[in-house]
Amino acid sequence: MKKPFVTKEQIEEIVKTYPTPFHIYDEKAIRENARKLKQAFSWNKGYKEYFAVKATPNPTILRILNEEGCGTDCSSYTELLMSKKVGITGSNIMFSSNDTPAEEFKLARELGATINLDDYTHVKFLNDTCGIPETISCRYNPGGTFSISTTIMDNPGDAKYGMPKDQLFKAYVELKELGAKKFGLHSFLASNTVTNEYYPTLAKMLFQVAVELKEQTGIELSFINLSGGVGIPYTPDKEPNDILAIGEGVRKAFEEVLVPAGLGDVSIYTELGRFMLAPYGHLVTKAIHEKHIHKEYIGVDACAVNLMRPAMYGAYHHITVLGKENDPCDHTYDITGSLCENNDKFAIDRQLPKIDMGDYLVIHDTGAHGFAMGYNYNGKLKSAELLLCEDKSVKMIRRAETPEDYFATLDGYWEV
Ligand SMILES: *Cc1c(COP(=O)(O)O)cnc(C)c1O
Repeated sequence: MKKPFVTKEQIEEIVKTYPTPFHIYDEKAIRENARKLKQAFSWNKGYKEYFAVKATPNPTILRILNEEGCGTDCSSYTELLMSKKVGITGSNIMFSSNDTPAEEFKLARELGATINLDDYTHVKFLNDTCGIPETISCRYNPGGTFSISTTIMDNPGDAKYGMPKDQLFKAYVELKELGAKKFGLHSFLASNTVTNEYYPTLAKMLFQVAVELKEQTGIELSFINLSGGVGIPYTPDKEPNDILAIGEGVRKAFEEVLVPAGLGDVSIYTELGRFMLAPYGHLVTKAIHEKHIHKEYIGVDACAVNLMRPAMYGAYHHITVLGKENDPCDHTYDITGSLCENNDKFAIDRQLPKIDMGDYLVIHDTGAHGFAMGYNYNGKLKSAELLLCEDKSVKMIRRAETPEDYFATLDGYWEV
């Protein structure tokens, strides 16, 4: 059901040059998905996707998405620098940060990025730091719980992001007094939603806020940013989102709420990360140990440093044993990495075909929040990132870390 985009034969060829573990991304599928997203929102003249850099902070990936019309959504100094280096600047950057240090606002302002303020107090902070730009956005937090029909999706009342409506309106009024001319509204209320209703429900709520803002203050928004949160099915039993249906749902809410209020020129923005990349990345790793104790363990050469989601959230990532796609899943394994942490397990009690030493395992859906979340615990090094190009050739788009990289911040103390 979940089919890898690489075969055993391809991987056996690739490892001659690039040893496991590594992340590999599928350029063709990334481009096709980005085009489909654009098509889904083609009804909106100003539509733009700002790819959430934190999901997959690799310049080659940013460049590919930029070629498909996407900008970047940055939230830190280094993400801004990476965006600049790739040539994405000005209004092609959305700076959606929180708890933002002054120097990050300064760099965002220098690059001409659209700044999305997380809090009312940031109006003064930004003004004191580098002045208020002409275009500015504010992040909304409605509080309470966020539901789609009767299902509670998430709990904005507990979230540190955004500002309540009274503060939001006060922020717009003050920003206008301080010289801002174009205004945007942003909100991110639920993560990894696997339903076509999330964006339309969120959009309708934000559209109503826009109408209310116009009625109360006379301020007309220029753009509404639906942010991230459109998810992917990590488990094979779930249906993927239909982005065309999602775009159509947002269009309906737009026609219903914004158009009658004279706000039909509002641009729709998105800041998707997971939806853009997750299914189009694999973590490829090799079985290097088998252990038969109280349970059956397969030790692989990747660990939570390469993919943290299972350890951090207990997240499910589907696993395919290459070359054994059609074998019966008649063995029960824990698939582990080598960290001195018992949560370093890519799968627990997973039904898989018999795994032999040297088998290659594909861990699915690692294209977003995969490599990026990695850390250096246990002195483990981060892997390479590879790109499976449209012509099926393979390009290294980030080399693996070396011990020298690990010791690089200990100036002068270590000669490796
Ligand atoms: C993380 C994040 C995104 C992307 O979220 P996905 O779930 O990957 O789509 C977008 N905007 C902001 C502000 C974020 O923090």
